[in-house]
Amino acid sequence: MRGPLLKVESLTKHYPLSRGFSMKTIPVVRAVEDVSFSLDAGETLGIVGESGCGKSTVARLLMRLVEPTAGRVLIDGTDVAGLRRHALRDWRRRMQMVFQDPYSSLNPRLTAGQIITEPAENFERLSRKQHHALAADLLRKVGMPSEIMDRIPSELSGGQRQRLGIARALALKPSLIIADEAVSALDVSVQAQILNLLMDLQQQIGIAFVFISHDLSVVEHISHRVAVMYLGRIVELSPCEALFSNPVHPYTEALIAAAPIPDPTRARLKVPVEGEVPSLVNPPSGCAFHPRCALAVERCRIEVPSLVPTAVGRLVACHVRAPGTEASPQRLEAISQFTRGAKPQPPT
Ligand code: ADP
Ligand code: MG
Repeated sequence: MRGPLLKVESLTKHYPLSRGFSMKTIPVVRAVEDVSFSLDAGETLGIVGESGCGKSTVARLLMRLVEPTAGRVLIDGTDVAGLRRHALRDWRRRMQMVFQDPYSSLNPRLTAGQIITEPAENFERLSRKQHHALAADLLRKVGMPSEIMDRIPSELSGGQRQRLGIARALALKPSLIIADEAVSALDVSVQAQILNLLMDLQQQIGIAFVFISHDLSVVEHISHRVAVMYLGRIVELSPCEALFSNPVHPYTEALIAAAPIPDPTRARLKVPVEGEVPSLVNPPSGCAFHPRCALAVERCRIEVPSLVPTAVGRLVACHVRAPGTEASPQRLEAISQFTRGAKPQPPT
């Protein structure tokens, strides 16, 4: 059986804040803490959570824009930290990123055609004719007419600019696109068009997505599986439909309850999240959600809950809703299967 396209193992990122008096006391921002998941070719994993919970840091770690404090990222089973020269170049082709604000990530002086063919030009010299053909082809893929290629970003709408950002990401035929708040700056109607475009592209060319957003309805629309993050950790990882119809972690439940529901026939859960989001420099002991959790018991203040399989393909980190026992080898094996996209066997 083929392994996963992407595997993330115990990824951790601490940013030192400033230099303390002794080396031992440098305070750190615990941006990402022990994050593990995997993704199959052609699959979409949504990552959702409130602002500041570490989503963009996960994206930067995946793209190797920042080095992890601990943990690793494997592409097709190869640790990206060990890649050199050709392998690194090849991997950079295969993994592309689409950002939130296409305006700030597009060079305002280049034409649309130049912008979307630039990644390809970095790898090989294109003739005028090849350049034109590639630009037209990429524009067609993202649903725009070829006349657009002579315009500069300021002459385009927000939705058109985001299509350009996607066209540029597609130029090198990647296997994986990391989209960080890729539709968050757009109007709702344009958001839907861009999400549908991404889903069509996935159908046509089998591309995998890590789709990051603070917006639950956007993540629900596009994802096969969803990881919910709270203060740097994944607290629930589940097939999309199961997560939204039956959230297990109290934080997931509260997030869904707080989100505006586009479908008024769906029942609204009633678990308000109380209080402030705690600090990442001094996160609460035990389960970081316990100060805001209506269900918290003594154990929640003491012990960090680990992700425990609760149903086929579901992992939840909660002492109350998914009480774990000691980590047996069988359970670790079950977890490693469940973090896979492929349909896992139920635990024995
Ligand atoms: P999100 O994308 O979910 O809003 P981020 O990953 O951007 O969250 O940030 C997670 C936490 O890490 C935040 O508290 C943020 O302030 C902190 N952080 C991000 N980048 C840095 C950095 N370069 N130095 C220090 N702290 C950082
Ligand atoms: Mg972010």
